[in-house]
Amino acid sequence: MKEILVVSGKGGTGKTTLCAALAALWEDSKVMVDADVDASNLPLLLSPRLLERTPFFAGWQPVRDEEKCTACGTCREKCRFEAIGEDLEIDLLACEGCGVCAWFCPEEAIRMDEKEVGEVYLSETPYGPLVHAELYPGEENSGKLVAEVKKRARRLAEEKGVGCIFLDGPPGVGCPVIASLSGVSLCLLVTEPTISGLHDVKRLAALLRHFKVPGYLVLNKADLAPDLAEEMLAFAREEGLPHLGSIPYDPEVFRALHQAKPLPEVSQAPAAKAVREIKNRLEKILEEVAT
Ligand code: SF4
Ligand code: SF4
Repeated sequence: MKEILVVSGKGGTGKTTLCAALAALWEDSKVMVDADVDASNLPLLLSPRLLERTPFFAGWQPVRDEEKCTACGTCREKCRFEAIGEDLEIDLLACEGCGVCAWFCPEEAIRMDEKEVGEVYLSETPYGPLVHAELYPGEENSGKLVAEVKKRARRLAEEKGVGCIFLDGPPGVGCPVIASLSGVSLCLLVTEPTISGLHDVKRLAALLRHFKVPGYLVLNKADLAPDLAEEMLAFAREEGLPHLGSIPYDPEVFRALHQAKPLPEVSQAPAAKAVREIKNRLEKILEEVAT
Protein backbone atom coordinates (compact mmCIF):
# COMPACT_ATOMS: atom_id res chain seq x y z
CA MET A 1 0.00 0.00 0.00
CA LYS A 2 1.30 3.46 -0.93
CA GLU A 3 0.73 6.57 1.17
CA ILE A 4 1.10 9.97 -0.45
CA LEU A 5 1.16 12.93 1.90
CA VAL A 6 0.59 16.47 0.60
CA VAL A 7 2.08 19.16 2.86
CA SER A 8 2.89 22.85 2.85
CA GLY A 9 4.67 25.21 5.21
CA LYS A 10 1.48 27.20 5.78
CA GLY A 11 -2.18 27.11 4.83
CA GLY A 12 -3.49 28.66 1.62
CA THR A 13 -0.74 27.47 -0.74
CA GLY A 14 -2.91 25.11 -2.81
CA LYS A 15 -2.28 21.91 -0.83
CA THR A 16 -5.98 20.98 -0.48
CA THR A 17 -6.74 22.05 -4.07
CA LEU A 18 -4.02 19.68 -5.31
CA CYS A 19 -5.21 16.87 -3.04
CA ALA A 20 -8.83 17.21 -4.23
CA ALA A 21 -7.67 17.31 -7.85
CA LEU A 22 -5.66 14.11 -7.35
CA ALA A 23 -8.74 12.48 -5.79
CA ALA A 24 -10.74 13.33 -8.92
CA LEU A 25 -8.02 12.29 -11.40
CA TRP A 26 -6.73 9.12 -9.74
CA GLU A 27 -8.55 6.29 -11.45
CA ASP A 28 -7.40 3.42 -9.21
CA SER A 29 -9.19 2.86 -5.93
CA LYS A 30 -7.90 4.94 -3.07
CA VAL A 31 -8.74 6.22 0.38
CA MET A 32 -8.65 9.98 0.88
CA VAL A 33 -7.66 11.41 4.26
CA ASP A 34 -7.89 14.90 5.65
CA ALA A 35 -5.13 14.90 8.25
CA ASP A 36 -5.48 18.64 8.89
CA VAL A 37 -7.63 18.05 11.96
CA ASP A 38 -7.41 21.65 13.19
CA ALA A 39 -8.89 23.07 9.96
CA SER A 40 -10.33 20.28 7.86
CA ASN A 41 -11.01 21.63 4.35
CA LEU A 42 -10.75 18.64 2.01
CA PRO A 43 -14.36 17.52 2.72
CA LEU A 44 -15.54 20.91 1.40
CA LEU A 45 -14.30 19.94 -2.08
CA LEU A 46 -15.26 16.25 -2.18
CA SER A 47 -19.03 16.36 -1.52
CA PRO A 48 -18.90 13.82 1.33
CA ARG A 49 -21.88 11.87 2.70
CA LEU A 50 -21.27 11.04 6.34
CA LEU A 51 -21.43 7.32 7.14
CA GLU A 52 -19.88 7.05 10.59
CA ARG A 53 -18.97 9.36 13.45
CA THR A 54 -16.74 8.16 16.31
CA PRO A 55 -15.80 10.21 19.39
CA PHE A 56 -12.09 10.65 19.99
CA PHE A 57 -10.76 10.66 23.56
CA ALA A 58 -7.41 11.99 24.72
CA GLY A 59 -6.31 13.12 28.19
CA TRP A 60 -8.41 13.21 31.37
CA GLN A 61 -10.90 15.43 33.14
CA PRO A 62 -12.02 15.44 36.78
CA VAL A 63 -15.62 14.74 37.77
CA ARG A 64 -16.71 15.59 41.33
CA ASP A 65 -19.27 13.41 43.07
CA GLU A 66 -21.40 15.82 45.07
CA GLU A 67 -22.79 13.00 47.24
CA LYS A 68 -19.34 12.06 48.52
CA CYS A 69 -17.89 15.59 48.68
CA THR A 70 -17.71 17.14 52.17
CA ALA A 71 -16.66 20.55 50.80
CA CYS A 72 -13.34 20.43 52.67
CA GLY A 73 -11.69 22.57 49.97
CA THR A 74 -8.51 20.46 49.68
CA CYS A 75 -8.90 20.02 45.92
CA ARG A 76 -9.19 23.79 45.40
CA GLU A 77 -6.14 24.39 47.58
CA LYS A 78 -4.03 21.83 45.69
CA CYS A 79 -4.99 22.78 42.15
CA ARG A 80 -2.08 24.79 40.72
CA PHE A 81 -4.12 25.92 37.74
CA GLU A 82 -6.84 27.67 39.76
CA ALA A 83 -9.39 25.55 37.94
CA ILE A 84 -11.61 24.99 40.97
CA GLY A 85 -13.81 27.85 42.06
CA GLU A 86 -14.98 28.87 45.54
CA ASP A 87 -18.19 26.93 44.89
CA LEU A 88 -15.94 23.88 44.08
CA GLU A 89 -17.13 23.87 40.46
CA ILE A 90 -14.37 22.70 38.12
CA ASP A 91 -13.60 24.97 35.18
CA LEU A 92 -12.73 22.44 32.47
CA LEU A 93 -11.23 25.12 30.23
CA ALA A 94 -8.68 26.00 32.92
CA CYS A 95 -8.16 22.38 34.01
CA GLU A 96 -5.00 20.66 32.74
CA GLY A 97 -6.19 17.17 33.65
CA CYS A 98 -3.25 16.58 36.02
CA GLY A 99 -5.31 14.54 38.50
CA VAL A 100 -3.87 16.21 41.62
CA CYS A 101 -7.36 17.07 42.95
CA ALA A 102 -8.44 13.43 42.69
CA TRP A 103 -5.22 12.23 44.33
CA PHE A 104 -5.58 14.52 47.37
CA CYS A 105 -9.35 14.29 47.87
CA PRO A 106 -9.77 12.60 51.31
CA GLU A 107 -13.24 11.31 50.35
CA GLU A 108 -12.31 9.92 46.93
CA ALA A 109 -15.03 12.19 45.63
CA ILE A 110 -13.21 13.04 42.37
CA ARG A 111 -12.74 10.56 39.57
CA MET A 112 -10.75 11.18 36.39
CA ASP A 113 -12.68 10.38 33.20
CA GLU A 114 -11.29 10.17 29.69
CA LYS A 115 -11.88 13.44 27.86
CA GLU A 116 -13.65 13.63 24.51
CA VAL A 117 -11.64 16.12 22.44
CA GLY A 118 -12.86 15.49 18.93
CA GLU A 119 -14.53 13.20 16.41
CA VAL A 120 -13.35 10.96 13.59
CA TYR A 121 -15.58 10.66 10.53
CA LEU A 122 -15.90 8.19 7.71
CA SER A 123 -17.66 9.53 4.63
CA GLU A 124 -18.27 8.34 1.14
CA THR A 125 -17.54 10.67 -1.77
CA PRO A 126 -17.80 10.34 -5.56
CA TYR A 127 -14.02 9.75 -5.50
CA GLY A 128 -13.88 7.01 -2.86
CA PRO A 129 -13.99 6.86 0.94
CA LEU A 130 -12.80 9.82 2.97
CA VAL A 131 -11.52 9.66 6.55
CA HIS A 132 -11.53 13.03 8.29
CA ALA A 133 -11.78 14.46 11.78
CA GLU A 134 -12.43 17.47 13.89
CA LEU A 135 -10.60 18.55 17.01
CA TYR A 136 -12.97 20.52 19.25
CA PRO A 137 -12.11 24.23 19.68
CA GLY A 138 -9.41 24.86 22.26
CA GLU A 139 -8.39 21.22 22.52
CA GLU A 140 -4.84 19.99 22.16
CA ASN A 141 -3.56 16.58 21.07
CA SER A 142 -3.98 17.17 17.33
CA GLY A 143 -0.91 14.92 16.73
CA LYS A 144 -2.74 12.04 18.46
CA LEU A 145 -5.87 12.68 16.40
CA VAL A 146 -3.80 12.69 13.18
CA ALA A 147 -2.33 9.32 14.21
CA GLU A 148 -5.86 8.00 14.86
CA VAL A 149 -7.14 9.22 11.48
CA LYS A 150 -4.22 7.52 9.75
CA LYS A 151 -4.84 4.29 11.64
CA ARG A 152 -8.51 4.28 10.54
CA ALA A 153 -7.54 5.01 6.93
CA ARG A 154 -5.00 2.17 6.84
CA ARG A 155 -7.50 -0.26 8.34
CA LEU A 156 -10.11 0.78 5.77
CA ALA A 157 -7.64 0.52 2.88
CA GLU A 158 -6.68 -2.98 4.01
CA GLU A 159 -10.32 -4.07 4.34
CA LYS A 160 -11.12 -2.76 0.85
CA GLY A 161 -7.87 -3.94 -0.73
CA VAL A 162 -7.07 -0.37 -1.80
CA GLY A 163 -3.54 0.35 -3.04
CA CYS A 164 -3.23 4.08 -2.32
CA ILE A 165 -3.94 6.49 0.50
CA PHE A 166 -3.82 10.24 -0.23
CA LEU A 167 -3.42 12.49 2.78
CA ASP A 168 -4.04 16.21 2.91
CA GLY A 169 -1.55 17.01 5.65
CA PRO A 170 -1.56 19.70 8.33
CA PRO A 171 0.37 22.90 7.55
CA GLY A 172 3.66 23.80 9.22
CA VAL A 173 6.40 21.60 10.65
CA GLY A 174 5.01 20.90 14.14
CA CYS A 175 3.73 17.83 15.94
CA PRO A 176 0.68 17.19 13.66
CA VAL A 177 2.91 17.19 10.55
CA ILE A 178 5.39 14.84 12.20
CA ALA A 179 2.49 12.53 13.14
CA SER A 180 1.21 12.63 9.55
CA LEU A 181 4.66 11.73 8.15
CA SER A 182 4.89 8.41 9.91
CA GLY A 183 4.99 5.51 7.44
CA VAL A 184 4.29 7.56 4.28
CA SER A 185 5.80 6.43 0.95
CA LEU A 186 6.43 9.95 -0.31
CA CYS A 187 5.55 13.52 0.32
CA LEU A 188 4.45 16.27 -2.07
CA LEU A 189 5.63 19.60 -0.83
CA VAL A 190 3.40 22.39 -2.17
CA THR A 191 4.59 25.96 -2.07
CA GLU A 192 4.31 29.33 -3.77
CA PRO A 193 7.26 31.41 -4.96
CA THR A 194 7.47 33.88 -2.08
CA ILE A 195 10.19 34.63 0.47
CA SER A 196 8.18 32.90 3.22
CA GLY A 197 7.47 30.01 0.82
CA LEU A 198 11.20 29.51 0.31
CA HIS A 199 11.76 29.60 4.06
CA ASP A 200 8.96 27.01 4.54
CA VAL A 201 10.39 24.73 1.84
CA LYS A 202 13.76 24.76 3.59
CA ARG A 203 12.19 23.84 6.94
CA LEU A 204 10.06 21.08 5.43
CA ALA A 205 12.98 19.72 3.40
CA ALA A 206 15.00 19.46 6.64
CA LEU A 207 12.11 17.62 8.30
CA LEU A 208 11.78 15.14 5.41
CA ARG A 209 15.54 14.57 5.42
CA HIS A 210 15.46 13.90 9.16
CA PHE A 211 12.65 11.33 8.82
CA LYS A 212 14.09 9.90 5.59
CA VAL A 213 10.88 10.52 3.63
CA PRO A 214 11.30 11.13 -0.13
CA GLY A 215 9.95 14.56 -1.05
CA TYR A 216 8.81 16.10 -4.36
CA LEU A 217 8.36 19.81 -4.95
CA VAL A 218 5.19 21.26 -6.47
CA LEU A 219 5.34 24.98 -7.24
CA ASN A 220 1.95 26.65 -7.20
CA LYS A 221 1.39 30.00 -8.99
CA ALA A 222 4.94 29.51 -10.25
CA ASP A 223 4.62 32.18 -12.95
CA LEU A 224 3.86 35.01 -10.49
CA ALA A 225 7.48 35.39 -9.34
CA PRO A 226 9.79 33.64 -11.83
CA ASP A 227 13.02 34.71 -10.05
CA LEU A 228 11.89 33.30 -6.71
CA ALA A 229 10.55 30.19 -8.44
CA GLU A 230 13.99 29.68 -9.99
CA GLU A 231 15.64 30.17 -6.58
CA MET A 232 13.34 27.49 -5.13
CA LEU A 233 14.12 25.08 -7.93
CA ALA A 234 17.85 25.67 -7.41
CA PHE A 235 17.41 24.90 -3.70
CA ALA A 236 15.37 21.78 -4.55
CA ARG A 237 18.13 20.54 -6.89
CA GLU A 238 20.78 21.05 -4.19
CA GLU A 239 18.56 19.30 -1.66
CA GLY A 240 17.79 16.35 -3.96
CA LEU A 241 14.11 17.27 -3.93
CA PRO A 242 12.81 16.46 -7.44
CA HIS A 243 10.51 19.01 -9.07
CA LEU A 244 7.24 17.19 -9.73
CA GLY A 245 5.61 20.10 -11.52
CA SER A 246 4.54 23.72 -11.53
CA ILE A 247 0.98 25.03 -11.55
CA PRO A 248 0.41 28.45 -13.14
CA TYR A 249 -1.80 31.15 -11.62
CA ASP A 250 -5.26 30.51 -13.02
CA PRO A 251 -8.56 32.17 -12.01
CA GLU A 252 -10.25 28.84 -12.82
CA VAL A 253 -8.92 27.57 -9.47
CA PHE A 254 -11.12 30.12 -7.68
CA ARG A 255 -14.10 29.11 -9.82
CA ALA A 256 -13.58 25.49 -8.72
CA LEU A 257 -13.27 26.54 -5.06
CA HIS A 258 -16.38 28.68 -5.39
CA GLN A 259 -18.29 25.68 -6.74
CA ALA A 260 -16.78 23.44 -4.01
CA LYS A 261 -15.50 20.96 -6.59
CA PRO A 262 -12.09 19.49 -7.49
CA LEU A 263 -10.41 21.65 -10.16
CA PRO A 264 -10.42 19.04 -12.99
CA GLU A 265 -14.19 18.66 -12.58
CA VAL A 266 -14.88 22.24 -13.66
CA SER A 267 -11.93 23.25 -15.83
CA GLN A 268 -9.54 22.15 -18.54
CA ALA A 269 -7.59 25.43 -18.28
CA PRO A 270 -3.78 25.66 -17.65
CA ALA A 271 -3.85 24.90 -13.91
CA ALA A 272 -6.02 21.80 -14.44
CA LYS A 273 -3.68 20.67 -17.23
CA ALA A 274 -0.65 21.14 -14.95
CA VAL A 275 -2.30 19.10 -12.19
CA ARG A 276 -3.04 16.32 -14.68
CA GLU A 277 0.67 16.25 -15.63
CA ILE A 278 1.62 16.11 -11.95
CA LYS A 279 -0.74 13.18 -11.47
CA ASN A 280 0.79 11.35 -14.48
CA ARG A 281 4.33 11.86 -13.15
CA LEU A 282 3.26 10.74 -9.70
CA GLU A 283 1.77 7.56 -11.15
CA LYS A 284 5.08 6.76 -12.85
CA ILE A 285 7.04 7.41 -9.66
CA LEU A 286 4.75 5.09 -7.69
CA GLU A 287 5.12 2.38 -10.33
CA GLU A 288 8.91 2.68 -10.00
CA VAL A 289 8.68 2.55 -6.20
CA ALA A 290 6.60 -0.65 -6.56
CA THR A 291 9.13 -2.40 -8.85
S1 SF4 B 1 -11.17 17.51 48.17
FE1 SF4 B 1 -12.86 16.08 47.78
S2 SF4 B 1 -14.17 16.29 49.56
FE2 SF4 B 1 -12.80 18.03 49.57
S3 SF4 B 1 -13.94 19.65 48.47
FE3 SF4 B 1 -12.68 18.61 46.97
S4 SF4 B 1 -14.03 17.04 46.14
FE4 SF4 B 1 -14.95 17.70 48.03
S1 SF4 C 1 -7.16 17.82 37.30
FE1 SF4 C 1 -5.47 19.17 37.93
S2 SF4 C 1 -5.87 21.06 36.84
FE2 SF4 C 1 -7.76 19.90 36.77
S3 SF4 C 1 -8.94 20.63 38.49
FE3 SF4 C 1 -7.81 18.82 39.18
S4 SF4 C 1 -5.92 19.64 40.06
FE4 SF4 C 1 -6.84 21.27 38.83
